[in-house]
Amino acid sequence: MDVRDRIYIDGAWVPSAGRGTLEVLDSNTEEVIGTIPEGTAEDVDKAVAAAAAAFGEWSSMSHEERSKLLARVSEGLAARTDEIAETISKEVGMPLSLSKIVQVGLPTGVFSDMAKRVTEFQWERELGNSLIVREPVGVVGAITPWNYPLYQISLKVAPALAAGCTVVLKPSEIAPLNAFALAEILHDVGFPPGVFNLVTGVGNVVGEAIARHPKVDMVSFTGSTRAGKRVMTLAAETVKKVALELGGKSANIILEDADLDAAIPAGMFACYINSGQTCSALTRMIVPRSRLAEVEEKAKAAAEGFVPGSSLDPGTTLGPLASAVQRDRVRGYIEKGLSEGAKLVTGGTEPPEGLEKGYFVRPTVFSDVTPDMTIAQEEIFGPVLAILPYDTEEEAIAIANNSIYGLSGGVWSRDKAHAEQVARRIRTGQVDINGGAFNPAAPFGGYKQSGIGRERGEFGFEEFLEVKSLQR
Ligand code: NDP
Repeated sequence: MDVRDRIYIDGAWVPSAGRGTLEVLDSNTEEVIGTIPEGTAEDVDKAVAAAAAAFGEWSSMSHEERSKLLARVSEGLAARTDEIAETISKEVGMPLSLSKIVQVGLPTGVFSDMAKRVTEFQWERELGNSLIVREPVGVVGAITPWNYPLYQISLKVAPALAAGCTVVLKPSEIAPLNAFALAEILHDVGFPPGVFNLVTGVGNVVGEAIARHPKVDMVSFTGSTRAGKRVMTLAAETVKKVALELGGKSANIILEDADLDAAIPAGMFACYINSGQTCSALTRMIVPRSRLAEVEEKAKAAAEGFVPGSSLDPGTTLGPLASAVQRDRVRGYIEKGLSEGAKLVTGGTEPPEGLEKGYFVRPTVFSDVTPDMTIAQEEIFGPVLAILPYDTEEEAIAIANNSIYGLSGGVWSRDKAHAEQVARRIRTGQVDINGGAFNPAAPFGGYKQSGIGRERGEFGFEEFLEVKSLQR
């Protein structure tokens, strides 16, 4: 049992002003594995005051010193990989072997990447008679979700600190324990007091207090579009800079000439990774009607090839969902697919055999889905694929773009140049061509209601900088 009864403010572990605690559950067993303080707006006030007080010194510290501290965080995370990966696997449901690489390996890489960027970045340049100077935004409020909890934290905290900003973090109440481990590491490597602060609690209390706080200069949020809109509304009151990484309903266009033996299993993985709890998951497979039967057969085989089970069991390839709310929401969408007339290829609302306890959902595939169906429009966040047939390439592109979201996508064709042309016409922030490999330095973020701004690499770093012109 991981009992956390303190939050981290101004370089010290202190009690919350509130008395409440929140339970953290193992998604495999529904058992309590930890508790955290249920923070308050008063806690946020204290944390923001500490962050504002620390800003002057931290932002003027040499780039080399900031870089060294960030590199040590990366080492600290690497040293605790096994322990943190196990905790996240319990909280979120991702199979442990993948958690080590994705849930801890990626954040470790983000801190070392940002350590390098601080010293390599071109902070100033001449433009005519002006000197263009890049400066940190100020106090950053970071609000993060549960699906890739430490990665999403790192994508905000590491570049913000690298840029010279100070931070108040509110992690998700569903998967918060990794944030405590990160705070311990930041403390141990010697970040000055107030540079990083951690306030746990619920979104509509702690999250909203951060979003509306007059001394927070920027709020960086990842989560649902619903909560993102609320954050943006509150932040507007003090004209804060807002970065939003929100939902998606990403399309994977399989062109007529695609190699289905490669495209379908890869597409299934891109839909089911982390049990479908991925904002960039390719949840709509858009396929030529002439090849629909073939696609259905291969998708069924691939889906049934996933092994549901405990995220800690080495044989598992599909763990549970993060919470009962999430499981019920996903099962609700499966019911909706059935009632709206989609064809169930495999899966369904019943839990996988022998997995009645824990938040498990069957790997599910629907076909003959039409663009207006709920399961073609709304983010499900579970292992549910919607196959939509098309007759012409123009129609395929129109279906892909028929979404309020614009986060990610895929295109498959034996003709790579042609696939690229199609990819350019999809209105999203990323598109993977023929399963193009994950690039941690490539900018990530959304068009339309999938968000504002970019995370990762150089673009993610620059989000935390202001631009100043000095005329001489
Ligand atoms: P939320 O958007 O509610 O949660 C994300 C973060 O925002 C959490 O830290 C949450 O706090 C906080 N939050 C919630 N409400 C507010 C608010 N009013 N003001 C400020 N912060 C707030 O996601 P859910 O957990 O409810 O998931 C619901 C759906 O959202 C999922 O089914 C999925 O479709 C989508 N989602 C998308 C994600 C993405 O990466 N794009 C990530 C997570 C969810 P708290 O700790 O209380 O939850």
